[in-house]
Amino acid sequence: MIHVLSPADGTLVGTVADEGSLGVAAAAQRTRAAQPAWEAIGPDARAGWLFRYRDWLLDHDEELATLLQQETGKPWQEATLEIPFALDLINYYGARAAGYLQDEHPRPHGLGTAAKRLTVGYRPYQLVGVICPWNFPLMIGLADSIPALLAGAAVVLKPSELTPLATERAIAGWSEIGAPAVFACVTGAGEAGAALIDVVDYAQFTGSTATGRKIAVRAAERLIPCSLELGGKDAMIVLADADLERAANAAVWGAMFNAGQACVSVERVYVEAPVHDAFVALVTAKAAALRQGEDSARYQADVGALASPAQLAIVEAQVQDAVAKGARALTGGRRSALGGTFYEPTVLAGVDHTMTAMREETFGPTLPIMAVADADEAVRLANDSRYGLSASVWTRDASRARELARRLEAGSVNVNDVFANLFTFPVPHAGWKQSGLGARLGGPYAIRKYCRTQAVTESRITPRAELIWYPYSPRKGRLAGRLLRLLHARDRGRRLRKG
Ligand code: NDP
Repeated sequence: MIHVLSPADGTLVGTVADEGSLGVAAAAQRTRAAQPAWEAIGPDARAGWLFRYRDWLLDHDEELATLLQQETGKPWQEATLEIPFALDLINYYGARAAGYLQDEHPRPHGLGTAAKRLTVGYRPYQLVGVICPWNFPLMIGLADSIPALLAGAAVVLKPSELTPLATERAIAGWSEIGAPAVFACVTGAGEAGAALIDVVDYAQFTGSTATGRKIAVRAAERLIPCSLELGGKDAMIVLADADLERAANAAVWGAMFNAGQACVSVERVYVEAPVHDAFVALVTAKAAALRQGEDSARYQADVGALASPAQLAIVEAQVQDAVAKGARALTGGRRSALGGTFYEPTVLAGVDHTMTAMREETFGPTLPIMAVADADEAVRLANDSRYGLSASVWTRDASRARELARRLEAGSVNVNDVFANLFTFPVPHAGWKQSGLGARLGGPYAIRKYCRTQAVTESRITPRAELIWYPYSPRKGRLAGRLLRLLHARDRGRRLRKG
C-alpha cells in the first residue's frame, strides 16, 4: 500500500495499491487484448470515445482538481489548469486524428519507379507505456496518453508514487463511460515504472535526466523506441529595449509557477547591464509580494509547497551554495516559517556559472539573475548548459529576437513570453542535449510518433520479369547500365557514354 501525504502539512490524503511488476503485467495483458478492436474501429470512432471522455472530465473537474491540490500542494488556481489543458488537447487532436492517420500516396520520385503506386500507412504500436512525474500529474499524463489512444494504441500509465490519486481517478473515468479497456493506470513506485518498460512496445517518459537515461538504456536493450521529456535549465534573456514591466511579471510567474517545479520554468535570467538594476528591483518587489501557503480556501495563495522533502533539500542546498559563493538573496533564501515543504520565493543576484543554482536544474521557487554586457554574452551563457529545453528572449525588436532565437541551443524559444509554446499544439515540444529525446505534440507528429509507418509499393505494369532480375546476361547488363546512365546523368556527354 502506498500512503499519499500532503506536502503542505504531511497529513494522509489517500492510499493506492503498490501493484509492482505483477500489476503491470496484468494491466499490459488486459489492454493488449483490447487493442486490436480499438485499432479496428478507426480514428473517428476513437475520437468519439475521447469526446465522451472530455465530457466526463468536465463533469468531474472540481473533484479531480481537489485531489490534485491535496496531493501536490499546488495553489487552487494552478490545480484547476490541468484539466482544461486536456480538454483543449482532446478537441484539437480528436478533430484531426483521422486526417493525420490517413494513408499517403507520394508520387514516385523518378522515371525508374514511375510505374509504381506508393502508399504510406500509419499503424500504431500496440501498447504504449507512459511514466509521469509528480509536478503536473494530470496534464502530462493525459497529454501523452490522448494522442496515443487516438493513434489506436493501448496505454498503460504509471503516475509518480507521490501523486497517483488524481490520475487513478481520471483513468477510472475511462471505464465509467464504458470505453474499451485500452487505457489503464498502474500505481506503484519506481520499480513498477521499470517493469512497465519491460512489457510495452513504446516508452514515453517525463522526469529527471537520470531516470530518463535508465529508461533509454532499457529501451535500447529491448529495441523499442522511447521518447523522453527531461529536465531543463531554461534561460531568459532580457535586452535593454525590452518592456521591463512585462518581462518582470513573466520572470516571477515563470519561475514561481507550480513552486518552480516545471521542466520549462525560468531557471536563470541574463539581463543587459543598462537595465539590470531596474529589472532586479521590479522582480524583487513582485516576488516579495507573493502569498505562500496551503490553499484549500482557494485563491488565497500564489505559491504552494514543494512536492517532497527531497525536493526541498535540493532547493535549499543550491541557494546555500550560491550564497556561500557570493550571491545575495534579495528576498526569500530560506525555508518558510509555514513548515511542511514550503520554501520562500527567492530572488538571487550576483550569481555566476560556478554555482549549482546556475548549472543544475533547481525545480524550486528561485530566480537567479545575472548582468551581461550584451546579447552575445547572454547567448553564450545561455548555451553554456548541458540542458536545452526552452528559453525566452525579451526585446521590442522582432528581427533581433528571431536572430537570437536561431542561435540558442534549445528545443523551444519564446519571444516576449514564457513557455507559451506548451499551449500551442501545432509546434513540437522537444528537448535538445540532455533535456530529451523525441518530442511531445507538434501537429501530426503527436499522433504519428506512436505509429510505425508501413510502405506498400504496388507494381502497375507487370512484365514476366524485371530488367534487373535473373537471369543475368551481358546483353541485359549493358542495357540496364545504359538505361540507368540515361536516367541519372545530368549532362549529354555522360548520358550517351557507353557503360
Ligand atoms: P524521477 O525521474 O525519479 O521520477 C519521474 C517518474 O519516474 C516517477 O513516476 C517515478 O516513479 C518514475 N521512476 C523512478 N525510477 C524509475 C525507473 N528506474 N524506471 C522507470 N520509472 C522510474 O524524478 P525525481 O522524483 O527523482 O525528481 C528528481 C529531479 O528530477 C527533480 O529535482 C527535477 O530536477 C527532475 N524532474 C524533472 C521533471 C520534468 O518535468 N522534466 C519532472 C520530475 C522531476 P516514482 O515517483 O513512483 O518513484
